[in-house]
Amino acid sequence: MDLIREADRIAAWVRSRRDAGVSVALVPTMGALHEGHRSLIDRARTEADAVVVSIFVNPLQFAPGEDLARYPRDEAGDLERCREAGVDAVWGPTVEEMYPSGSDLPAPDPGPVGDTFEGAARPGHFAGVLRAVHRLLTAVGPDVACFGEKDAQQLFLVRRMVGDEAMPVRIVACPTVREPDGLALSSRNAYLSTEEREQAACSFLALSEAAVRSRAGEEDPAVLVAAMAREIGATPLARPDYIAVVDDATFAPVVRVGPGARAIVAVRFPSARLIDNLSLPLPA
Ligand code: AMP
Repeated sequence: MDLIREADRIAAWVRSRRDAGVSVALVPTMGALHEGHRSLIDRARTEADAVVVSIFVNPLQFAPGEDLARYPRDEAGDLERCREAGVDAVWGPTVEEMYPSGSDLPAPDPGPVGDTFEGAARPGHFAGVLRAVHRLLTAVGPDVACFGEKDAQQLFLVRRMVGDEAMPVRIVACPTVREPDGLALSSRNAYLSTEEREQAACSFLALSEAAVRSRAGEEDPAVLVAAMAREIGATPLARPDYIAVVDDATFAPVVRVGPGARAIVAVRFPSARLIDNLSLPLPA
């Protein structure tokens, strides 16, 4: 497995493969790799001949006062996990390599959806995400890039950017990997105390409750949101940040639950803010 720091070297690495007819998939990450990332790598393997993982804690997507300084970092462990997973190359740029000073890299506009939900809670977050993803996609130049449904709003905005700019890459959405109690794997789960961890599946329980009601024919998003709020409200250490049902095609709240409806939640625990979502099934 090759570990590459420089943008021009990863570009050349990918170009040489693609020129030889070898397709390349990129899995962008911020490191602290877990089984969720592993599932993206495994999927990437089925989508292309060679897999590149990028590891970059993107400072631009952290709002002032957020957890940039304490975000978990474990490069040696991450490289070991990538090696085990059969990754062909890791791109681990420095901040200067990612955003060279004096250069004028594109700053894609997340638009109004970028100011809702995660964007409302984290000002500037999606502008930072899109700058990083645009840079990763153009520097690496993969055929395919894999993203997790866990970050549904990010996935929506990345897909829209790639579509708007007609970027020559296929975006693949990968299902959320969960702990046995339903908690979605996240690098930030490491912040949770034992007591918080015991309660952290409340988001998944709330989403599951919405899914059951949707399956049973409930079409009013307000009823689903109220049911989710009750579940999270009954969890002593959890404070809901937002709870909504949105349309996958627009990421706007739905007025009626139908095809493409997705329940989304963000919950604050004293030590961590966690997000999760679930696509809502229609009546069978
Ligand atoms: P991160 O390192 O948190 O920026 O995540 C890198 C990629 O992994 C993103 O596309 C995430 O959506 C995805 N991801 C994070 N957690 C999970 C999970 N539990 N299941 C599947 N994908 C995930």
